[in-house]
Amino acid sequence: MPGDLAALTSAIKDTAYRLRFDMVGICPAVTPQGISRLREWLEAGYAGEMDYLKRHADAYEHPKHVLDGIRSIIMLGLNYRTEEPTKVPSGSGRVSRYAWGDDYHDVIRRRTRKLGDHIHEWIPGSRVRGVVDTAPLPEREFARLAGLGWIGKNTLLLNRTWGSWFFLAALLTDQVLEYDTPFEEDHCGTCTACLEVCPTQAFVAPYVLNARRCISYFTIEARSLAPYDLREGQGDWTFGCDLCQEVCPWNRRVAPTETPEFMPREGLFPLSLAALFSMSEEEFRQLFRDSPLWRAKRRGLLRNAAIVLGNQQDQSQLAPLLIGLKDAEPVVRAASAWAVGRIGTENGFRVLRQLLAQETDDTVRQELERALATV
Ligand code: SF4
Ligand code: SF4
Repeated sequence: MPGDLAALTSAIKDTAYRLRFDMVGICPAVTPQGISRLREWLEAGYAGEMDYLKRHADAYEHPKHVLDGIRSIIMLGLNYRTEEPTKVPSGSGRVSRYAWGDDYHDVIRRRTRKLGDHIHEWIPGSRVRGVVDTAPLPEREFARLAGLGWIGKNTLLLNRTWGSWFFLAALLTDQVLEYDTPFEEDHCGTCTACLEVCPTQAFVAPYVLNARRCISYFTIEARSLAPYDLREGQGDWTFGCDLCQEVCPWNRRVAPTETPEFMPREGLFPLSLAALFSMSEEEFRQLFRDSPLWRAKRRGLLRNAAIVLGNQQDQSQLAPLLIGLKDAEPVVRAASAWAVGRIGTENGFRVLRQLLAQETDDTVRQELERALATV
């Protein structure tokens, strides 16, 4: 076992780097500074349908709700920067870079578990718990406290070396450790590139995101169809959105990831959309199992794909949407109705009229009527 506090702290950091984490910082387990901002944000309704955030609002107040007896938080960062996005051909959609490879939860969990095993070995009976998005822990706040960077105007954690293309994870422990100096500066300066690029005007102000207007939220988290006035802004994004990271000057010179699991999977870079509409459940599972895209489920991905095809307005892509119009999921039918209306062919409108005569779901009927009103 490392002899003293300093030796234990540096053994933990060395091991984290050996496990190929790119960033390591340690902070005490305290009530995070930004907790009042989180409460205000929730009260303003900016979390949309993410009810789990409201349900666990009290737990976010202190990490003791995640690990009893907690004293320290080891914050870890893992770079996922892969190749630059290619141009998206018609019939394909963009996927947020973090989701191009394997499910990051599994990749990171394997590493935090190993780090936890080492701590157990050095201090038998000590308690540790790894967290990768899976517990009420304001990771960005603790990462700032652990010296890893500042929270930028786009609300993401930014690091001078790694930009924002990294995952954050935490290893909580009941051991006292040596702590890093909190990161107090803000290197956004006068830049406003992220605020300006957002196609759905999701930033209420610098550092404040209205998730309900964010493409990442309504293509991944929300179960309902994107608000009518934001669908055009979704553009080619089929799962998530990276625009406010792509324009960030701190992301310009980030080294590529060394984690092979994050390399783009065949078929996700970009994602071919037409094929999705005729895939069986089993084929869908095969393609997206162990990928972050699975979170949106088949219904969410088809819904998003339909909106993207509608935005591309390519008549040759009408066929998959006609399949979507008959999908068992109302949200897929509703999105397909919007998209068929946007493409605006005579054949498409004829099918919409036929379906309106037999549709029983109110939301889908509304979309069919609205699409037909554009004739
Ligand atoms: S992820 Fe996209 S939609 Fe969301 S805030 Fe950033 S630029 Fe806007
Ligand atoms: S784009 Fe500019 S303002 Fe936005 S997070 Fe990056 S540095 Fe900050």
